[in-house]
Order: sequence, then structure tokens, then C-alpha cells
Amino acid sequence: MADQEGSQRPPLRPDLKVRRNDGDRLTRFLFDRFPVRGHLVHLDATFRALVEHHDYPPVVRETLGEALAATALLVATLKFEGLLTLQMQGDGPMHLLVAQSTHGHAMRGVARYSVPPASRDLREQLGLGRVTVTVENVDRTSRYQGVVPLAGGRIAECLEGYFRNSEQLPSRLWLAVTPERAAGLLLQRLPVGATSSAEEDLNEVAEADEDWRRVVMLAETLTPHELVSLGAGDIVHRLFHEEDVRLFEPTPAFFQCTCSRERVAGILRSLGAEEIRSIVEERGNVEVRCEFCNRAYQFDAVDATTLFVAAPAVPPGIH
Ligand SMILES: [Zn+2]
Repeated sequence: MADQEGSQRPPLRPDLKVRRNDGDRLTRFLFDRFPVRGHLVHLDATFRALVEHHDYPPVVRETLGEALAATALLVATLKFEGLLTLQMQGDGPMHLLVAQSTHGHAMRGVARYSVPPASRDLREQLGLGRVTVTVENVDRTSRYQGVVPLAGGRIAECLEGYFRNSEQLPSRLWLAVTPERAAGLLLQRLPVGATSSAEEDLNEVAEADEDWRRVVMLAETLTPHELVSLGAGDIVHRLFHEEDVRLFEPTPAFFQCTCSRERVAGILRSLGAEEIRSIVEERGNVEVRCEFCNRAYQFDAVDATTLFVAAPAVPPGIH
């Protein structure tokens, strides 16, 4: 993505400079004449809700914002209803980052770090680690996990490799974050070449290659500032005003935590009766604070005892 304004780029409409972005929403668009689709996401209050209870160092906050915008874009490509989790784990200064979204774009996320990372490079932030994308269906009966190659220093680069492997669709991704907002643009080239003859197929593929290159080249002229500050309609106009692009009705995104007293109880049970009893003896009660939303769950001595009476099996974990 270009950081500086190039001489070839179309001029901004005068009213673009004063327009704010679209708030918290996703917008899908399709090119009428090219086999290319796109998604734009802007996260405003959603991103602020994620960071407001944490004193994240700027680079961690930025990586979390990029991960959140990327998660929203990944969810937009899902073909079924479920939950998607982008998770990064490593032995570096930022040892865990989780960004989650439902198909309806209820989102949450958290990062843990030992010392503030010195660099924006994901490989240095995470150290030896792995990035995974997990997709579960609504009732969590089926689960798919894909490993994202740590191919570059930024999430966008890594996810382009992931899209290539998992969706088999050439994809390009741009992410931008300010202290208050996160935004992203995803372009995907759709399959072509199912005509009646091999020769026609070849022509169609060659043409689609050329169209794809052109669309990506135009998208490269968008600055991070424009991506994060302009609305979806303005971005599409700014980049593709000479093409026929169909913009779909945007869908809202919002912060929502899925924690509950039952889930916390499940985590406490997994620690064992002895451990919980010793915490209650020492402090008088057990308090668990949700890392995602900062909500506190209190268990007094009676609650703690009740936990281990006819306890149902609830799997612990980040769900
Ligand atoms: Zn919570």
C-alpha cells in the first residue's frame, strides 16, 4: 500500500476529506465485469471496547487492531454460521493474542505480553510460535483449524498465504490501525474457466489474471490513512470509480463477550476442589475477572463448595 500520494491517482472528491468512516460495519462489493469480490471493514466502538480495560503498549494495541479487522474479514468469507478464532501464541514478548468473531460479527479479543515488544514485526513480537485460524460451527460440533504461515512481519502478509492454502483463491489484504480504529480491505479473485472449450477457458483465465492485476494495482494506491478514515462507499469510489462495482448493504459489527458464570465455574472445576478450597481459605472468596470484557465473577465459600457437588462436565478454555 502506498504511503505517499502518487501522481497517477485519481483526485479525492472535495467532500471526502471531512467525512468520517462508517463506524462499525462490514461492506461487501462485487465487480460487475471482473471475477473479483471485496470486503471492507471498519471497527470503531468495537475496537475501543477491546482495548479500554487494558493498558496495551502501542505496538500490541496495533497488532490487536489488525488481528480484529483481519478476523472480521475472515468471517465475511465463511460459508456457514459459526465462530472464528484467530490465535497467535509464541515465546516472544507478546505470547498470546486472540481475536474472535461470530458469523454475525459479535467480536472480542485480548493480547497478553510479558514486556512491551520493541518491534512491529510479528515474528519478533511472537518469537517462536504459531498462528492459527479455527472455525467452529454454531453448536461447536465440528471444527476446522488451519495454520497461518508466519511468512512476513505483518498479519496481512501471513493471511494472504493462509487464503492461498485454505480457500485456493488469490487474495490480497490491507489492514490499518489508529489508536481508536481498525480497518481492513480484502480482495479475492473468484474462479473462472468453466466454459465449453479448453481454449475459451485459457482466454478467460488470462483475461481474469489481467483484471486481477489491475484491481490490485488500484487498491495499492489506497493509503493506510484513507483506509482507516474513509467510509466504504468513499473508498470504493476513490479506488474503482471507473469500474462497475456493486456495493451491498453493510452489516454491523459489535463487541460482545461470550463469558458467563457457568463457563467460569467450569474453569474453576478444572482446577480441582483442593486448589479452590485453598484459595477460599486464603482470601475468603474466589474472584475471576474475564480478560476480554473485564467482568468480575465472585464465588464465596458456599459457591465454591457447590461447584464440586454433582459438577457437570464443562470443558475449560478460552470459549
Ligand atoms: Zn467476558
